[in-house]
Amino acid sequence: MADCIFCKMARGEIQPDIVYEDDEVLAFRDMNPQAPTHFLVIPRRHIATTNDLEAGDTELVGKLYLAARQVATAEGIAERGYRMVMNCNPEAGQSVYHIHLHVLGGRPMNWPPG
Ligand code: 5GP
Ligand code: ZN
Repeated sequence: MADCIFCKMARGEIQPDIVYEDDEVLAFRDMNPQAPTHFLVIPRRHIATTNDLEAGDTELVGKLYLAARQVATAEGIAERGYRMVMNCNPEAGQSVYHIHLHVLGGRPMNWPPG
C-alpha cells in the first residue's frame, strides 16, 4: 500500500523507534504513548483490519503476540503485567488501517477500557 504509514515503516521509508524486527514483524514505540511503555507490533504485510485476516494468517498473528511478549520482557513489564489491544474499525477507535497490536504497560490498567 503506497501511502499507508505503517507500510512505509515496514519498507524502511520512515524510521520509527524500532524495538523488534524480523522478516515478517516490526515493533516500534507509539509516537503518542498512553502508558510509560507503549509500543505497536505490526506485520510487514499490509492487512487493513482484523476483519481482513484469513486462515493463512494464523501463524503471522501468533508471531505478533510472540514478538509482543519478547519486547515486553525486554522492557521489564512482563512480570508486572501489560495490556495488548488491537482496535478494529471506527467504533473501537482504529485510526491507522494497517493492523497493529498495542502493547501498554508500566502502570495499572483499568477495566473495562473506555
Ligand atoms: P489506533 O488508533 O489505530 O488503534 O492506533 C494507532 C496508533 O498509531 C496510535 O496510538 C498513534 O499514536 C500511533 N501512530 C500513528 N502514526 C504514527 C507514526 O507515524 N509513528 C508512530 N510511532 N506511531 C504512530
Ligand atoms: Zn500498510
